[in-house]
Amino acid sequence: MATVNLHDVCKSYGERRTVHDVNLTVADKEFMVLVGPSGCGKSTMLRMVAGLEDITSGQLLIDGKDVTDVAPQKRDIAMVFQSYALYPHMTAYRNMAFGLMKTTSLSKAEIDGRVREAAEILHITDLLDRRPKELSGGERQRVAIGRALVRQPKVFLFDEPLSNLDAKLRNRMRGELKRLHEELGLTVIYVTHDQLEAMTLATRVAVMAKGELQQVGTPMDVYMKPANTFVASFIGTPEMALISCTGQAGGHVDHPAFSRPLRLSRNALPSQVMLGIRPEEAKFDQASDIRVKVGRSEFIGAEALVDVSLGKDTMTVKIGVTDIPEPGTEVGLNFDMTRARLFDTRTGQLLDLAP
Ligand code: ADP
Ligand code: MG
Repeated sequence: MATVNLHDVCKSYGERRTVHDVNLTVADKEFMVLVGPSGCGKSTMLRMVAGLEDITSGQLLIDGKDVTDVAPQKRDIAMVFQSYALYPHMTAYRNMAFGLMKTTSLSKAEIDGRVREAAEILHITDLLDRRPKELSGGERQRVAIGRALVRQPKVFLFDEPLSNLDAKLRNRMRGELKRLHEELGLTVIYVTHDQLEAMTLATRVAVMAKGELQQVGTPMDVYMKPANTFVASFIGTPEMALISCTGQAGGHVDHPAFSRPLRLSRNALPSQVMLGIRPEEAKFDQASDIRVKVGRSEFIGAEALVDVSLGKDTMTVKIGVTDIPEPGTEVGLNFDMTRARLFDTRTGQLLDLAP
């Protein structure tokens, strides 16, 4: 068993508060991905869990035990960094074995067993005699992961481990990490700024902005029901359109270019709302009363992304490549209102449209 609980965790550097009142529970065998823009406090959070950074206030529990003030090496945690942080003068084998030799009383044979088993899992058995400079970026990253695996820690922490790899290798390593997590039943906290990486790896994602958690949920939850306009824009590419409308009592939204009833009527809507529509939730439809002007389109393989303008607003529509409308023309567009969401313009929060 390995669970991690953060209670009201804050971090300040001098006067400046970097992490605000974070409450987060990571369940046993969960792959929790902490995602957010650069500088939002992800690494700081992870380093606090690892014990590499003091917690200014709040509490950290691992398996229910308060480890807020426990030294890093006593937390039973292993961390993998973006920079790999391998010892350059040691072979891959020694890089993986070194920590065990220094910090445990395992016998040479036990250590050898663990290193060879991890090497097997990571497909690096043939590389164990090489030094880091004789390895590719992806191979180095495997050694760094191996060094964490041999320790058999309760919790694995990863800080942007794939950022230094090219796109193809990154995809492959993403698949491998997912496999490792499933096969070995690891408990993982993984940090990335890449929302696609977050969505594909996570059992749950924790979206962070400016040192605060914005939403914690399954990838499906945060995609379909983003808690606020930040999450709505941050998750998903191309971005969700957020179209300013006026909310009308009785449950419909008005825009200079259209008016639409809401599926679930709500008596009181705020007067200023944002209608959130993803590119795949809008469709060209000649019969529709919503007229839009076609702008630039981008061919992305199986699909195309077409920019359109509705009066002063613009949005992107994702369609099949056979029906790309001519730029400059005016066409009809329809939304899937059953999937559209509304946000309060003033607070940015998702409005609950349940009756
Ligand atoms: P992320 O990993 O999300 O990119 P970080 O956790 O590295 O963000 O940083 C969050 C904020 O805290 C940044 O504004 C950064 O400049 C600041 N910060 C990080 N480490 C320190 C430090 N040791 N001293 C002062 N400020 C720091
Ligand atoms: Mg970082």
